[in-house]
Amino acid sequence: MPSLANLGWDAARTAEWEALGAPDLVPGRVSLEHNHVYRVMTEAGEVLAEAAGRIKHLASGRRELPTVGDWVALSQGNDGQRSTIRSILKRETWFSRKAAGRSTEEQVIAANVDVVFLVFALDKPVNARAIERYLAVASRSGARSVVVLNKCELVDDAGAAVAEAATVAGAAPVHAVSTRSEPGVGALEAYLMTGRTVALLGPSGVGKSSIVNRFLGADVLDTGEVREWDQRGRHTSVHRQLVVRAAGGLIVDTPGMRELQMWDTDEGMGDAFSDIDDLGAGCKFRDCDHNREPGCAVKAAVASGALAADRYDSYLKLRHEQAALDTLRDARALLDQKRQGKVQQRALKAMQKSRGR
Ligand code: GDP
Ligand code: ZN
Repeated sequence: MPSLANLGWDAARTAEWEALGAPDLVPGRVSLEHNHVYRVMTEAGEVLAEAAGRIKHLASGRRELPTVGDWVALSQGNDGQRSTIRSILKRETWFSRKAAGRSTEEQVIAANVDVVFLVFALDKPVNARAIERYLAVASRSGARSVVVLNKCELVDDAGAAVAEAATVAGAAPVHAVSTRSEPGVGALEAYLMTGRTVALLGPSGVGKSSIVNRFLGADVLDTGEVREWDQRGRHTSVHRQLVVRAAGGLIVDTPGMRELQMWDTDEGMGDAFSDIDDLGAGCKFRDCDHNREPGCAVKAAVASGALAADRYDSYLKLRHEQAALDTLRDARALLDQKRQGKVQQRALKAMQKSRGR
């Protein structure tokens, strides 16, 4: 049975827990959410739990509902009964995206991730712009970023690739790894210390699953798979979305993390392009778009060579994509609303029909 420390509990949690003053509750960490039922790891083992009515009713949005990685306070169910999540402890970090359906609603995909591996593959040249974009997403979460260049056995000079990535990685360390051959993935081992929670983010096909498998090995087959019942009562197997590694550390692998791409990076952009923000302080207009406005300090910096032209380009490009995504998101939300309307109409018709009989 993992101790609380192995699950990521620390002194700050202890202090928060004491302030909560709830001797009847036990702490636990959410490892899986499935149809609003949560699997929660506690010191006494894993339990199934539901959110208390109070949490569900008070939740002004989905971001206030429990999510994978959350620390929660549980009241334990009597034998056979599900436990109840009474409260959610403060999230240190969180990854979120706009929930489908309502364009303003935020959905938290994973909470309390300490380190995020931004994974790319060296079967293609290093893409500095892609690294910048993923760093922007990650910095918003509050987690520490580590850039991982996988498939490094495919290039002659992995060191050069690392150096190139490092020019845009800022404070994030860069590692070249391979799940197939030397040097392996050992360089990432240092981030998977006991109690530390790691998540992986990156384009598909770069080797995220392979890296997770290398870390979990047979572990995940033995303990990662759990049986659940779907809405129709069928037995399905589901992977735990937060897995404790036997050798220490925890790995988050939720489907939502995989889909998390450029959603909602307004603030992240600021962090990733803080140099441009700083320059912007010198613009003539406070709401300068750094593109067409007169007296723009950013454009002046490009002209003088103080700001690299390709960095400026990627800034504009990211901003453009952001705007396109906002539009796409709104279009999707509208579509979802329409679909729901249709479903409701159909249900209504069916009801009227059956009453008429
Ligand atoms: P994901 O989509 O990011 O989860 O990527 P996968 O883990 O599914 O890997 C995609 C493909 O890349 C698979 O065919 C893997 O076998 C392959 N792959 C993973 N790691 C390496 C590596 O280090 N070197 C090479 N050459 N291929 C790899
Ligand atoms: Zn400007």
